[in-house]
Amino acid sequence: MVRRPPPAELGVHDLVGIGFGPSNIALAIAIEEHNATVPAAAALRCIFLEKQPSFSWHRGMLLDGATMQVSYLKDLVTLRNPASDYSFLSYLHCQDRLIDFVNHKTMYPLRHEFHDYLEWAAGRLANLVEYGTEVIGLRPVLRGGEVAYIDVVSRPSGSDESGALVVRRARNVVLAAGLAPYVPDDYTLDERIWHNNELLFHIERMPALSHGRFVVLGAGQSAAEVTEYLHTNYPTAEVCTVFSRYGFTPADSSPFVNQIFDPAAVDDFFAASPDVRRMLIDYHRGTNYSAVDGDLIDSLYRRVYQERVRGPQRLRILRTSRVVTHERLADGVRLTVESHTTGERQVLDADILVLATGYRPRDPRVLLDGLGDVCALDTEGRPRVNRDYSVVTTASTTAGIYIPGATEYSHGISSTLLSNVAVRAGEILSSILARDPETGLSGDPVVPRPATKPAWVA
Ligand SMILES: Cc1cc2nc3c(=O)[nH]c(=O)nc-3n(C[C@H](O)[C@H](O)[C@H](O)COP(=O)(O)OP(=O)(O)OC[C@H]3O[C@@H](n4cnc5c(N)ncnc54)[C@H](O)[C@@H]3O)c2cc1C
Repeated sequence: MVRRPPPAELGVHDLVGIGFGPSNIALAIAIEEHNATVPAAAALRCIFLEKQPSFSWHRGMLLDGATMQVSYLKDLVTLRNPASDYSFLSYLHCQDRLIDFVNHKTMYPLRHEFHDYLEWAAGRLANLVEYGTEVIGLRPVLRGGEVAYIDVVSRPSGSDESGALVVRRARNVVLAAGLAPYVPDDYTLDERIWHNNELLFHIERMPALSHGRFVVLGAGQSAAEVTEYLHTNYPTAEVCTVFSRYGFTPADSSPFVNQIFDPAAVDDFFAASPDVRRMLIDYHRGTNYSAVDGDLIDSLYRRVYQERVRGPQRLRILRTSRVVTHERLADGVRLTVESHTTGERQVLDADILVLATGYRPRDPRVLLDGLGDVCALDTEGRPRVNRDYSVVTTASTTAGIYIPGATEYSHGISSTLLSNVAVRAGEILSSILARDPETGLSGDPVVPRPATKPAWVA
């Protein structure tokens, strides 16, 4: 039985954005800048829905001293519109820190500072975003035999099935839901087993250490940062970092390789065959995956060496190793760690196990499935995506559905990153403006109007 939704807001938006992270903030800015150049009647009407209660960008990993892994010039706007007053430099100017930043001679601001920049930009767009709102479904809406609109169904974040549903009708939907922490199947997160994504939140309420030991699983940037953080902040605790590799591998940020993040690289990648795309990702995984800043690797090595000289050995890198079993204790976790090379096993009782096991793009199909067979899939069951980040749809669909972040397989390695958000926002905006001559010009009211019967209501 199809459930009839509670009374809903059914004005037509030119665009509903799902998520308000850097990707959709960049788009909101592009729209604001566009709207400032057209008559009010032609302005795009949009809203962004964000499930977090307020703006937040990987807040659980805002570790002291952690820096950005991308140049500040790859901010929300500069590569699209260097004259924008939403740039990182403009932010610095507003904070009266521009000259101090210049003297700092770095391209890589603190992660804290970049968070503050993003929050500043998001704050200026507060009229376009509704926080604490989770999108739970998409539904096609028919007009004259065409899927002309998408109904975006949301409810207050954290509410259960009974939470009041709101439906917003959109000509275009931009799903930029970002990354979700990846937790291997055999682990259940609790107050002793954390994903690094929540590190600082857990640290705030961590019980007293009884074993005096942390174990960190992983070999990437997050694992290295967490290792350094725990080793610094718990000066009597042992920190054991376990990974299969022989050593932390430096991120490749050399200039020719770095061009893989350029806007033009998206064209190259998109034009390539599936085999070539896979080959490019394999060649250049080291720019982003399990790759660590060189300075951080040096810092960790220096610590290990100093402890070898002066003892005690608190920082232990358990290389070419894996955890074969883990068992929850009342006050921690018991892990059996096996060496890949010798097969030798050791048992470690730890207060805390931190899984620095990476992130995966949130799968857009969770929401797209609600559109039935509107979206075309490739041979691997993934949405087929056009160069403008819109999903390939049935011929009778005029509504636009964009999935910018979850497109590494079609648009390349920058898809989940910040490098390209400014230019990509401009491309999506141009596509939306070109898609439907009515967009931004129709008489459809955006204010709530009497509910027409959505296609999905029986
Ligand atoms: C610790 C950390 C550091 C990083 N540092 C860098 C860096 O230095 N350089 C770089 O290029 N990349 C970095 N990244 C990669 C990261 O993906 C990008 O920085 C950036 O977050 C991508 O922006 P986004 O808007 O696509 O995704 P996100 O920032 O993840 O934003 C997506 C938003 O969508 C919201 N959302 C999800 N589902 C729903 C829903 N159903 N309804 C409503 N809202 C929803 C989420 O709450 C989230 O706020 C880092 C990642 C991590 C984890």
